[in-house]
Amino acid sequence: MNVILLGPPGAGKGTQAKRLEKRHNLIQLSTGDMLRAAVASGSELGKKAKSLMDAGHLVPDDLMISLIADRIDQPDCADGFILDGFPRTTAQAEALDEMLAEKGMKLHSVIEMKVEDEILVDRITGRYTCANCGAGYHDSFQRPKVAGVCDACGGTEFKRRADDTAETVRTRLATYHAQTAPILPYYQGKGILKAVDGMAGIDQVTDQIERVLGAA
Ligand code: ADP
Ligand code: ADP
Ligand code: ZN
Repeated sequence: MNVILLGPPGAGKGTQAKRLEKRHNLIQLSTGDMLRAAVASGSELGKKAKSLMDAGHLVPDDLMISLIADRIDQPDCADGFILDGFPRTTAQAEALDEMLAEKGMKLHSVIEMKVEDEILVDRITGRYTCANCGAGYHDSFQRPKVAGVCDACGGTEFKRRADDTAETVRTRLATYHAQTAPILPYYQGKGILKAVDGMAGIDQVTDQIERVLGAA
């Protein structure tokens, strides 16, 4: 099963992708995580991406398409993946279709996570992750069971993203509405688009996603 989680920044794509990964034995392909790893490693891609990411702009399509093409070629993707953060433009969506067709693979579902912009600002400015295992948390909505200790690994170091500021969020939301939301009709036309209410609680969103995947 190959699934796309599509939604604005802070919609809960990463949170739900990690749950789907465990339940259905799929691989999470987060282009944001891949880019942040490239920035941290100081690679050519990282150097090109950093200032664009910090400003809340998209990284050019050709770079993103070759990044995901190389990743989908890896053997671990053959059993199914969840795309989190890709595609983000119509050109990326079309390139993905070509890549999958060449491999005889297809998309099972594209899940749109709907959340209002005002809520996204709170989600993003309160977001942080475990520096050791990457588990995601939120200052108000998803606190660790013991304050300052990661539920998943016991780690005590946490980090926040450089682009998770109130100013950058506005640009990222505008970018989403202008460049990414127009992909929705593309998948609607293919009959694989399913919407969930991303404003519900984290567990309820998971339940909705399970339902739409099962019903497909
Ligand atoms: P995305 O990957 O779409 O940018 P995340 O999964 O990182 O979004 O979620 C953004 C923030 O909101 C995180 O801090 C996460 O803990 C929190 N969050 C995710 N889903 C929900 C939800 N349904 N209700 C409240 N907070 C949520
Ligand atoms: P969010 O969790 O807020 O949805 P991501 O972690 O997916 O954000 O992406 C962070 C940044 O990385 C984006 O603002 C953009 O600059 C860049 N990026 C990630 N995926 C893509 C993509 N598919 N196309 C272009 N830029 C991307
Ligand atoms: Zn951890």
